[in-house]
Amino acid sequence: MTELTTTLIHHPYIPPAGFDAPQPGVFKASTVIFPNVAAMRHFEWKDKSAYTYGLHGTPTTYRLEERLCTLEGGLQCLLLPSGLAAIANVALSTLKTGDEVLIPDNAYGPNKALAEGELRSWGISHRFYDPMKPQDLAAKISPQTRLVWLEAAGSVTLEFPDLCELVRLCQARGVLTALDNTWGAGLAFAPFDMIPGVSPNLAVDISVHALTKYPSGGGDVLMGSVMTRDAALHLKLKLTHMRLGFGVGANDVEAVLRALPSLALRYQAHDASTRTLANWCLTRPEFAQVLHPALPDSPGHAHWRALCGAGPGAAAGLLSVMIDRRYSQAQVDAFCDALKLFKLGYSWGGPMSLVVPYDLASMRSGWPEHLKAGTLVRLSVGLEAVADLQADLAQALQKLA
Ligand SMILES: *Cc1c(COP(=O)(O)O)cnc(C)c1O
Repeated sequence: MTELTTTLIHHPYIPPAGFDAPQPGVFKASTVIFPNVAAMRHFEWKDKSAYTYGLHGTPTTYRLEERLCTLEGGLQCLLLPSGLAAIANVALSTLKTGDEVLIPDNAYGPNKALAEGELRSWGISHRFYDPMKPQDLAAKISPQTRLVWLEAAGSVTLEFPDLCELVRLCQARGVLTALDNTWGAGLAFAPFDMIPGVSPNLAVDISVHALTKYPSGGGDVLMGSVMTRDAALHLKLKLTHMRLGFGVGANDVEAVLRALPSLALRYQAHDASTRTLANWCLTRPEFAQVLHPALPDSPGHAHWRALCGAGPGAAAGLLSVMIDRRYSQAQVDAFCDALKLFKLGYSWGGPMSLVVPYDLASMRSGWPEHLKAGTLVRLSVGLEAVADLQADLAQALQKLA
């Protein structure tokens, strides 16, 4: 007789097949069991026809990848342990010593830090371009340029570039484009079909998405994705992913799979509340400028309208205010500290509203000419009742006086 411990490991019971439920089951594995040696030798993970090792995919990760492809209009997808890891995977896969990467000056800060801190030391150079001036990007593309990052809207300052023009410029010069699509989330615009109805599709080559934000929706998961519509490019990215050992936890994938069905509804709700607050902020004398792509005076508004339309769900839940220069840093800090519903914290996309004061001068190559002087505070609008959020801002503004 086999001993108890062995039986508990190699238990003969197999539950009946045919179970179904709204939420798919979660498969957790480092080890994947093969039926025989021939299978072990020949099973192929690269085309997702079989399973070989947890890092190379499970039914759970494949399922999320395919749903994300549907969301963003991609054909192939990789999952990574964070949005930043997704950015790094793109850089490490597409750049080598002697190459150059161009990054918008208003890009997600850690993307710039990756170039300055890691890529530079490997002999990969970088330059920052002004995304609001396509001619600046055109002038900076050189024979060494291998990759151009795009972001719409820009991180923190929320300018909206002429994304179509920037992509066309890169395509005309044969340079690879990678979009950080976290703000648009696959909903505000289609990164692989930017002008619907026009053929061939105007598309970026790579779309990176911090699933940490809206797809997770809970403020409790870190994950990123890299999306493509080109099998060869995907394989190149996937081999880098495999060699670097990037993987994601099945329970985190489950959390995103659970949140995905409500993504569009949540995005629309964040959008609606944010536009309400943005318009209210415009009426407040404490703010020298309100930055939100749907506001007619916000930089790049016309580009946003052209790409995203102006309807519900055409913008995310971010809003920045430039607090007038007559207020000191200490007063701005007191305003942020006085907020009760907006919590001090990084990231966005969850149910709870968040606030971060930024030292913009230290984040940009120069003070952007389209921005008024002042201290920038970014608000991430959650799913609380918008009247409560507005009252919270109003009471905290009294601390500025
Ligand atoms: C948050 C964010 C990221 C990185 O996501 P993490 O999962 O936190 O690493 C990348 N790009 C943008 C625009 C983001 O807002």
